[in-house]
Amino acid sequence: MDQNEVLFDRAQESIPGGVNSPVRAFRSVGGAPRFIEKALGPHMFDIEGKRYIDYIGSWGPMILGHNNPKVIEAVKHAVDNGLSFGAPTKAEVLIAEEIKKLIPTIEEVRLVSSGTEAGMSAIRLARGYTGRNKIVKFEGCYHGHSDSLLVKGGSGQLTFGTPSSAGVPEAVTNDTIVLEYNNPQMIRELFDKQGDEIACVIVEAVAGNMNMVPATQEFLNAMREETAKHGAVLIVDEVMTGFRVALGGAQSVYGIDPDITMFGKVIGGGMPVAAFGGKRDIMNCVAPLGAVYQAGTLSGNPVAVACGLATLEEIKAPDFYKRLSAQAAKLVRGLGEAAKKHGVQFSAQSMGGMFGIYFRGSCPTSFKEVMECDGERFKTFFHAMLDNGVYLAPSIYEAGFVSITHDDSVIARTLEAADKAFAEVKRV
Ligand code: PMP
Repeated sequence: MDQNEVLFDRAQESIPGGVNSPVRAFRSVGGAPRFIEKALGPHMFDIEGKRYIDYIGSWGPMILGHNNPKVIEAVKHAVDNGLSFGAPTKAEVLIAEEIKKLIPTIEEVRLVSSGTEAGMSAIRLARGYTGRNKIVKFEGCYHGHSDSLLVKGGSGQLTFGTPSSAGVPEAVTNDTIVLEYNNPQMIRELFDKQGDEIACVIVEAVAGNMNMVPATQEFLNAMREETAKHGAVLIVDEVMTGFRVALGGAQSVYGIDPDITMFGKVIGGGMPVAAFGGKRDIMNCVAPLGAVYQAGTLSGNPVAVACGLATLEEIKAPDFYKRLSAQAAKLVRGLGEAAKKHGVQFSAQSMGGMFGIYFRGSCPTSFKEVMECDGERFKTFFHAMLDNGVYLAPSIYEAGFVSITHDDSVIARTLEAADKAFAEVKRV
């Protein structure tokens, strides 16, 4: 047994499933997760000292690679000044101003500590602002684990409030309507019937929690038009896509104007910062100005905000997204070629520094098509890559992430590993 396996056994004695967030446990691919000791640039090192090329990037935040010197310096400087004050700081004003500059649809923004909090608060705000209860989400989209959002659609059907986690009362999800992703017709039909009861529509403009599935322009246009027509709020969840698919997020790629946007991941550069923000008249409904209550002991934490600010500073470098996108594109192109060489059904795509790999002939455009991906082949591929020093997300339902430190030599080493891994997939 290697040290990872030993520690995983030990972890399971004191932590549910041995992990503090479920997907880390390797449940769908089997085996023991790697316990990470340290990381640098594009690499992570486990407790055995084995090096991996990291394509998880802490599930999105590490766009600069691990331990960017400027970010670490900013964090150390903030630590020297104190860990938490529970009073406002100048850095919070600076980061709010920075977010507004980078995302022009934001007029005011409130910081929280996780994407879950951002989603939960955005929904409460939309309900408080409109005085309506019903919310609309899409099958396969994840917006954090707050009760009313933990609902998925059954078999692509329009589903009224079937909780998909135990412990969520039906009463809480009765007002959550789940529609098919990339189906504009369904949105129009729902709004025709019930438009005046709907508080908000919440969407990942590039879905990243059912692997990666970009929205179609028509789909996003339909929800923008219908929400505007019926006085409902459009919430775009950019926790994953914000500062990731482009400097201006997915909304800049599609040219959509959300009422509220959620941020997380990159905005904190690896520390717990998330946010929700948008139109001033809506945001002014939040306490202390308005009647929608929302608060947090560690919200706007000075160390976390320093990390976020330093990260935002770096991603503004000229050509940052051009370089990042080029590396992700090289990766998916190379993977496609390697799969073809070995005769494995495979497809892949990227947007900015985010990518999806699929064991099916073409990139999926819906939840149903994602479900058609070959999980067994992925499992073989995943473990072969891991054995060859490449750490991919341990699930077919997760997107992957490239950092600015994934240079040509890192991509080349990844593709060498992939050549062996596809050969293995073909053999099994
Ligand atoms: N929204 C999206 C789109 C996400 O990808 C995630 C996390 N993967 C969340 C919300 C929840 O964020 P957190 O894990 O920080 O609560």
